[in-house]
Amino acid sequence: MPASLQGKHVVVLGGAGFLGSHLCERCLSDGAASVLAVDDLSTGSKNNLVDPRIGLLLHDVCKPISIEGPVDFVFNLASPASPFDYDRLWLETLRVGSLGTQNALDLARAKGARMLQASTSEIYGDPSVSPQPETYLGNVNSVGPRAVYDEAKRYGEAIVTAYRDRLGVQTRMVRIFNTYGPRMRLNDGRVVPAFVGQALKGQNFTVFGDGTQTRSFCYVDDEIDGIVKLMLSDVSDPVNIGNPVELTMLEFAEAVRRAAGGGGQISFSPLPKDDPKQRKPDITRARTLLGWEPRVSLDEGLAKTIAYFRTVV
Ligand code: NAD
Ligand code: UDP
Repeated sequence: MPASLQGKHVVVLGGAGFLGSHLCERCLSDGAASVLAVDDLSTGSKNNLVDPRIGLLLHDVCKPISIEGPVDFVFNLASPASPFDYDRLWLETLRVGSLGTQNALDLARAKGARMLQASTSEIYGDPSVSPQPETYLGNVNSVGPRAVYDEAKRYGEAIVTAYRDRLGVQTRMVRIFNTYGPRMRLNDGRVVPAFVGQALKGQNFTVFGDGTQTRSFCYVDDEIDGIVKLMLSDVSDPVNIGNPVELTMLEFAEAVRRAAGGGGQISFSPLPKDDPKQRKPDITRARTLLGWEPRVSLDEGLAKTIAYFRTVV
């Protein structure tokens, strides 16, 4: 397989979403011959597909995916991603993580294409080790409120591995850690749009729990760069792609307040059940095998994100 997207035919399942739309644009700028987003618009939007060269196939990937012509690379990003969305779309999340992933693999197999699965740091659940290396097997509650997402993603990793080992499909697996940037939905419930929206409207920051839980935020351009590097690599084991700079949610609220120049007090409300207390990627594998590491600082990424949200608030 080539080490470039130049002249290649790319399909992005979930391509009208936040990450998917940035990925479609990156594939075009890397010289892909065609880029097709396949999306049911359940959490994505046609408005994210600003470049007219990106095709859109309106389709639920829980149904078999049929595409005319050659396909070299299939990126599977189709799934609700915010805790608010997967709580609301609980059955859709279970279905797309299982049936959708199988259909993505069947598409790749039929086309002789390489398939990359968007997995997640939620594979590690509420982790008891920090930072989390890919070898950590996780601490996931299979009967908790996050299980519809976490277990669907774990099943996704299992079926991707089985298609690789038993059917010889070329697969890649990225464990994405919290990623933020322009085109996140203001009301998707995730902490970045929540705090940025609150700062811009002068509202209180809605901190869940006591705000000492941690996350590590990766700017979207860095994340997409890691995903593309992984797709073009020969690494078929899972790879963490995220930014290892770890912050408490109280520290993050203050960072947003500084960057946006506004926001009210901290208002505390109960921590949702099974909300991970810490999250920080060990990116040794990405550094050594892909030569990837994040380049965009939190201040720089927040400035770009806030500039975008000023246009939609
Ligand atoms: P998003 O909600 O913006 O994008 C998901 C896209 O998938 C949307 O366009 C949605 O309409 C589409 N989709 C959902 N179900 C579908 C179906 N059945 N058929 C066709 N399309 C469908 O979310 P995102 O943040 O861009 O996340 C993209 C992927 O990355 C997801 O798989 C998510 O689990 C994974 N991920 C994201 C993060 C993050 O921080 N953004 C972290 C970990 C993993
Ligand atoms: N969070 C918060 N206030 C909000 C939204 C989220 O304090 O308005 C917290 C949430 O409890 C979690 C962290 O921020 O500890 C990250 O939440 P998000 O939904 O962005 O992602 P995830 O929990 O999937 O990492």
